Amino acid sequence: MQYENSEEFALKLDQEDKLHKFRGKFLFPQHKGQDVVYFTGNSLGLQPKSTEEYLKQELSDWANYGVEGHFEAKRPWVSYHELFSEPLSKIVGAQATEVVAMNGLTTNLHLLLASFYRPTDKKFKIICEAKAFPSDQYALSSQVRFHGYDPKDAIIEIEPRQGEEMISHDDIVKNIQENADEVALVFWGGVNYYSGQVFDMKGIAEVCQKHDIMFGIDLAHAAGNVKLELHDWGVDFAAWCSYKYLNSGPGGVSGVFVHSKHHGLKDIPRFEGWWGHNKKDRFKMEPEFDPIPTAEAWQLSNAPVFSMAPHLASLDIFNETNMDQLIHKQRLLVEYLEFILADISKTYPKAAFKIITPPKPNRGSQLSVLTLNDGRDLFEYLSKNGVITDWREPNVIRMAAVPLYNSFHDIWRFGRVLQDYYSIAE
Ligand SMILES: *Cc1c(COP(=O)(O)O)cnc(C)c1O
Repeated sequence: MQYENSEEFALKLDQEDKLHKFRGKFLFPQHKGQDVVYFTGNSLGLQPKSTEEYLKQELSDWANYGVEGHFEAKRPWVSYHELFSEPLSKIVGAQATEVVAMNGLTTNLHLLLASFYRPTDKKFKIICEAKAFPSDQYALSSQVRFHGYDPKDAIIEIEPRQGEEMISHDDIVKNIQENADEVALVFWGGVNYYSGQVFDMKGIAEVCQKHDIMFGIDLAHAAGNVKLELHDWGVDFAAWCSYKYLNSGPGGVSGVFVHSKHHGLKDIPRFEGWWGHNKKDRFKMEPEFDPIPTAEAWQLSNAPVFSMAPHLASLDIFNETNMDQLIHKQRLLVEYLEFILADISKTYPKAAFKIITPPKPNRGSQLSVLTLNDGRDLFEYLSKNGVITDWREPNVIRMAAVPLYNSFHDIWRFGRVLQDYYSIAE
């Protein structure tokens, strides 16, 4: 498309956008009486207007029914978690029996690693990306130590080549092939939180299957952002949080995927609790664990309804569209953002940016922009003027253009603020 840096053009794109109506379903923080330009949906998604209703329903059911709410609530608490299987399965490309909402993300990573990192003296290594999100590094490292190995020997990190920002898929494949005899698990982030690189998860899954290696993915920055086909790719397990692109509120409940090939196995290593026990007999309180033959077997506790209600509000919005529509709009938004940055660079010599996020298809909603001449100054100017982005050392501004609620007009407004910054600096 031929883009233009004008308000009229941005408004025309909004008018043509079939998803533009979704913006009205969200609450925007205010700056001088106007919605902020919110580019941090990769950190904490915005609150749907409907969230309050969903939460109030649970509060009033609790008030009205007390313990009977487990069965009498509008959405009975005893089966509350079941409401998530269908909508989550569409977002991550799974069968409904392969997903479950529970706990927090890092907690779930540990539960899944307990099942799927099964080191032996010969095959005990983990291959992962260098500079993964710290929580993932801590989880992997502590799991390795828990099994009696030294992370220095057991963890192989794959880095970008010298002078590059993107980790090459060929390097990942080569590394897995070369170390296959010793590797028990490949664990990867679907989208890197810093660079925004989207990895070829299908390709990695293929190599892992060929070499009989477990493959797990952290989808924190991928769920609700990029197209996923976890079942068809043959991914063994995955987990994600719901507060980034899934708009379910701070610390919101996490989601888990366990491939159907691992269901119904009685001898799988697993940390177990009563909510994973066969529903029919759960309340007989018998001593022997009888797992539900789905991903629900990994549940420990009854559903945290107050963190799940906002999640349901958000998933009901996702249900009104689908990932293909969202990704179509996302591409246009991100292209427009890139165009605006380039346009301003042409006018103002000091405005020099390097986009470290690789081009599509290795890109989702996020652009990580290295500002070559400006430091935190620019980031703070943006914040003060109602553009919410996120700052990472050294000199990287992360921005996410989220198709559910960001508009083309948002991007034009960002450009205006950026232009003001540079014209003042001239
Ligand atoms: C956001 C994020 C987390 C956060 O973990 P919590 O357990 O939800 O606090 C972990 N890993 C990755 C890759 C993330 O992006």
